[in-house]
Amino acid sequence: MLKDQDRIFTNLYGMHERTLAGAKARGHWDGTAEIIARGRERIVEEMKASGLRGRGGAGFPTGLKWSFMPKESDGRPAYLVVNADESEPGTCKDREIMRHDPHTLIEGCLIASFAMGAHTAYIYIRGEYIREREALQAAIDEAYDAGLLGPNAAGSGWDFDLYLHHGAGAYICGEETALLESLEGKKGMPRMKPPFPAGAGLYGCPTTVNNVESIAVVPTILRRGAEWFAGFGRPNNSGTKVYAISGHVNNPCVVEDTMSLPFEELIERHCGGIRGGWDNLLAVIPGGSSVPCVRGENMREAVMDFDALREVGSSLGTAAVIVMDKSVDPIKAIWRLSKFYKHESCGQCTPCREGTGWMMRVMERLVKGEAELEEIDMLFDVTKQVEGHTICALGDAAAWPIQGLIRNFREEIEDRIKAAKTGRMGAMAAE
Ligand code: SF4
Repeated sequence: MLKDQDRIFTNLYGMHERTLAGAKARGHWDGTAEIIARGRERIVEEMKASGLRGRGGAGFPTGLKWSFMPKESDGRPAYLVVNADESEPGTCKDREIMRHDPHTLIEGCLIASFAMGAHTAYIYIRGEYIREREALQAAIDEAYDAGLLGPNAAGSGWDFDLYLHHGAGAYICGEETALLESLEGKKGMPRMKPPFPAGAGLYGCPTTVNNVESIAVVPTILRRGAEWFAGFGRPNNSGTKVYAISGHVNNPCVVEDTMSLPFEELIERHCGGIRGGWDNLLAVIPGGSSVPCVRGENMREAVMDFDALREVGSSLGTAAVIVMDKSVDPIKAIWRLSKFYKHESCGQCTPCREGTGWMMRVMERLVKGEAELEEIDMLFDVTKQVEGHTICALGDAAAWPIQGLIRNFREEIEDRIKAAKTGRMGAMAAE
């Protein structure tokens, strides 16, 4: 269990002052210039040693990502872009950081930008996050007034500007290259890769896109040391993590704890258990809506980290845990996600544009049992044709929940089809 003195986010619940004075009293902005004085190379090495993996879902090592940025400028500026477009259903962790502990992110932006040779950073915040934008902008203004941003930021000798950009509320703008397009004032449509953003990103310049939490933890890691951070969790899955637990637990919450925390401990300690007890647990989506669901009995023994959740056929994703008890119709729940991804597809590649609609329509019939048994395999096949065959990961995000459903709840799908054929439909499916 994470001790209070090891918490990075000490104001996740907004119980204390979120102002600069409050942040400083909690230890933020302490020795920022000294951290920067260590130099680019050492900061990147320390980040690598900390074992931090990107907290936005993909889990790519953060220090390694930073090292892809050019060491010497070829004349083009470099940029850090913070992805604050938190739109994945179930995910609501970054908003708590931005509205209650914004200085963790701002200080992180300065240090991370320095480590990448960037004098400018942009935070791209989700359209619906209006209060969060206000809190963050107020904190940025305060930091400018105090000389922590701008020329010679925080007395470090590094000139640094930070801009907050408000999106218009499209899920696809959370995809890093769509985000860059949107930031440039174009339609938020993902770009083909390569080139990768580190080579040609924002305005064709070297760019790194990082998640809010990944950047907000940087100052504390560098203050307390890579070894301290790497001491939490299992090897290759280190650090602390902000979890967001929603659905059928007694107390849904956002909480920081260690990586590799047993699922049962997470639910018991922070959420007051499963609604109706553990025997009432049906399924869990452990990492935001795009990862496959896991049956309750398999999830009970699971550990919350990248490697362990892969072993149970899912993924840590954003650590947004969606808990479903036995009152849920799993087919209908996944149909709803299919509808979401169909709606959010940007439409520029055929497997996603056509596939998401096709999958949703089959799911619609499966909810009512109005399908043939062979269609289950056919649907699975189609998910495989979409997965990995699209420009961006939205195709995968639409395919994986359905694959998880078929792998875990095939019997329920078959039973419903058989029941519909014999006129024995359950009330829930018929609704
Ligand atoms: Fe657009 Fe979907 Fe293709 Fe992504 S996978 S680029 S969202 S059509």
